[in-house]
Amino acid sequence: MKKHNFSAGPCILPQEVLLRSSEAIMDFNGSGLSLIEISHRSKDFVDVMEKARSLALELLGLEGKGYSALFLHGGASMEFLMVAYNFLETKAGYLNTGTWSEKAIKEAKMFGDVVEVGSSKDENFNYIPKGYSVAEGLDYLHLTSNNTIFGTQIKKFPKTNVPLICDMSSDIFSRQLDFSQFDLIYAGAQKNMGPAGATLVVVKDDVLGKVSRKIPSMLDYQVHISKDSMFNTPPVFAVYTSMLTLEWLKNLGGIAAIEEINEKKARLLYSEIDLNPVFTGFANKEDRSSMNATFNLADEKLKDTFDALWKDAGINGLNGHRSVGGYRASMYNALSLESVGVLVDVMSEMERKG
Ligand code: PMP
Repeated sequence: MKKHNFSAGPCILPQEVLLRSSEAIMDFNGSGLSLIEISHRSKDFVDVMEKARSLALELLGLEGKGYSALFLHGGASMEFLMVAYNFLETKAGYLNTGTWSEKAIKEAKMFGDVVEVGSSKDENFNYIPKGYSVAEGLDYLHLTSNNTIFGTQIKKFPKTNVPLICDMSSDIFSRQLDFSQFDLIYAGAQKNMGPAGATLVVVKDDVLGKVSRKIPSMLDYQVHISKDSMFNTPPVFAVYTSMLTLEWLKNLGGIAAIEEINEKKARLLYSEIDLNPVFTGFANKEDRSSMNATFNLADEKLKDTFDALWKDAGINGLNGHRSVGGYRASMYNALSLESVGVLVDVMSEMERKG
């Protein structure tokens, strides 16, 4: 039986994408060859890369607006340092909203000064800092749109004159935003796009080339752009599967359509968390993530009963991250409303059991 997969990442992908990508492993486009045994310079694969890049821009509403899309190696963690390598001349601002922001800050500090414009560390990152000011003259401001571990999400982005850079690893393609307010967006593929191994970077071309340091080729966004994201052998399987997921999303009606479904899923689960006395939510209500819902049992003694119930119901991946404890239900794009319904039924059963 297929599980209801609430894993935080790598995570659920659409069934049809899994089917088509597994077919391509055996026989790509009827060529009698596997996707992973052909040259990345073959026309068939170059077409895949071009389609993946253009679909990413199209879905974000950034086509023809001076942006380039790249599929790079190294995960979002590589972007923590590539961003600083390519943009940090003297001083950058970071909003510290959790583990991933802290890791980005750690890398940036190797390249220049870092100002934490705000932090929610005082409350174990259960909220998004607001009302912070961003000094003029920073090289950029770095934000993490969705905090995968703590279950918080930025709803309103600051207006600023400095370049805005955003780690969208865990909520890219999940909600409508004016993506043109960002100068660079990055996201590991393994949440809303595909398997681990590729990272999407969407960057505004005219913000590049402004730092004075020499940048090694593999870490230089301009090099990757000049080579159409084929400077070296790209992660072909991850790019192909991402392309299929982006096609799936486009056919569904794009980000507007998935946002509606994501909102329904989040409403269903959060209303159960709020109404059911067996559970308490972790994140501040106004900052709750529509992708990762974090919650705890009001009475830890019920843990064994609850764990047995959700496992019996075919649910996977509900344990919280070790730094928060409790539970985390990740509701990425490919998770159905029906799966959330199964979880909510289990939670209601806990209430009935008292
Ligand atoms: N940023 C965020 C918001 C994440 O959720 C993650 C991974 N879960 C990362 C960065 C790191 O991604 P990677 O493992 O691809 O380096």
